[in-house]
Amino acid sequence: MALKNEYLKKVLAEVEKRDAGEPEFIQAVTEVLESLEPVVEARPELEKLNVVGRITEPERFIQFRVPWVDDNGNVQVNRGFRVEFNSAIGPYKGGLRLHPTVCTSVIKFLGFEQCFKNALTTLPMGGGKGGSDFDPKGKSDMEIMRFCQSFMTELCRHIGPDTDVPAGDIGVGGREIGFMFGQYKRIRNEFTGVLTGKGLTYGGSLARTEATGYGLCYFTEEMLSCMKGDSFKGKTVVISGSGNVAIYATEKATQLGGKVVALSDSNGYIYDPNGINLDVVKQIKEVERGRIKEYAARVPGSVYTEGCKGIWTIKCDIALPCATQNELDEESAKVLVANGVMAVAEGANMPSTPGAIEAFQSAGILFGPAKASNAGGVATSGLEMSQNSQRLSWTFEEVDAKLKNIMVTIFHDSYNAAKKYGMEGNLVAGANIAGFEKIADAMIAQGVC
Ligand code: NDP
Repeated sequence: MALKNEYLKKVLAEVEKRDAGEPEFIQAVTEVLESLEPVVEARPELEKLNVVGRITEPERFIQFRVPWVDDNGNVQVNRGFRVEFNSAIGPYKGGLRLHPTVCTSVIKFLGFEQCFKNALTTLPMGGGKGGSDFDPKGKSDMEIMRFCQSFMTELCRHIGPDTDVPAGDIGVGGREIGFMFGQYKRIRNEFTGVLTGKGLTYGGSLARTEATGYGLCYFTEEMLSCMKGDSFKGKTVVISGSGNVAIYATEKATQLGGKVVALSDSNGYIYDPNGINLDVVKQIKEVERGRIKEYAARVPGSVYTEGCKGIWTIKCDIALPCATQNELDEESAKVLVANGVMAVAEGANMPSTPGAIEAFQSAGILFGPAKASNAGGVATSGLEMSQNSQRLSWTFEEVDAKLKNIMVTIFHDSYNAAKKYGMEGNLVAGANIAGFEKIADAMIAQGVC
């Protein structure tokens, strides 16, 4: 869809010029700007105060060297990043990703999306993101620790419980957060809620591990119920990935009565027509840190296929992409539609390409965009921050109930924002608008800064 509004065209042209060579960031900005046309038409102050121009430029971008020593005594060097994108509604908040594909463009697209997602949670959190091109695969625990300590030695200058609160993302789970937290505490000599996703013995929140996957299913259940009068019950579900988000989406989708029949990793996918045995998956992925391929060797009746894209050829009612950006393209989307999919909700960040989203929307498929549907992780991180500030911990049930309530609210806020601007049912536009308006109002109130 080409932009029509002159102001938005000008902002996008500026981003394309200034950030040429950052395709993921430009993709994310384009999608948001396309949703904002009716909003900037209705609210001239947005152009007058150049709110969109300011919101597409990070407040701060930090890049640094991360030297560390491997088990053979060789000195390795990686590149570390932190983008502090927007602090209009609270301290910067967003995960850290460790993956060889991490670069300026990926960190900026993730940080930009995070601003709107965090606004949607209704909690006071600004947007940020960070990480490194370090590849944790095949590294020993001691190598991971040395890397994390070196990474935090620099990052600790820029973060703090009221300034910027990182969390996990791809390649960063409880182990890595523990190493980073230990190093922060050692350097700064303070025990604070500077990171979320911490272990339960040192300030972590119950239900944080489950939160993104569970939240995705709570959102999807509400979307099915309100827009189709339906639910997970009796539905066949395909979930890509087999990391944190995919595992807990599988758990909740199953609890809600769905049958999850496929999971994947970056090498291939498993298909189990009897429904995924999650205990086996957790043993392979969480305990042994192994490959999803091993599932087929352990569970009779299941099959493994090389190549991850083929997962979208499996017939299903609900598809939940939970692996990585741009993993579901237009061709795959058309196959899903032809096979009768009724709902797609994104667990990963920006997993569907623009062509895929267009294919779903034009076929009338319910589509939950990442900013809204995977906000449960950061929402629960926000709850972890609240517990840390109050020096207390809530029960699993308390956190889970708050998470569910937040996800239901996000669905309705997105749905209502789309309806208000004449795009009823378009949750991509609704989520972008609802998140944007909250940040924009705060930015306007705080003056040009
Ligand atoms: P993990 O590192 O725990 O898992 C990522 C999974 O995706 C792994 O199984 C990985 O396989 C797989 N994967 C990576 N690339 C591909 C690919 N091209 N095709 C198929 N599978 C692939 O990360 P998370 O589960 O935490 O994160 C997954 C997504 O969810 C990311 O986009 C992340 O930004 C997003 N997200 C995560 C949140 C969280 O709370 N954890 C919160 C909100 C969003 P392999 O082992 O082969 O690399």
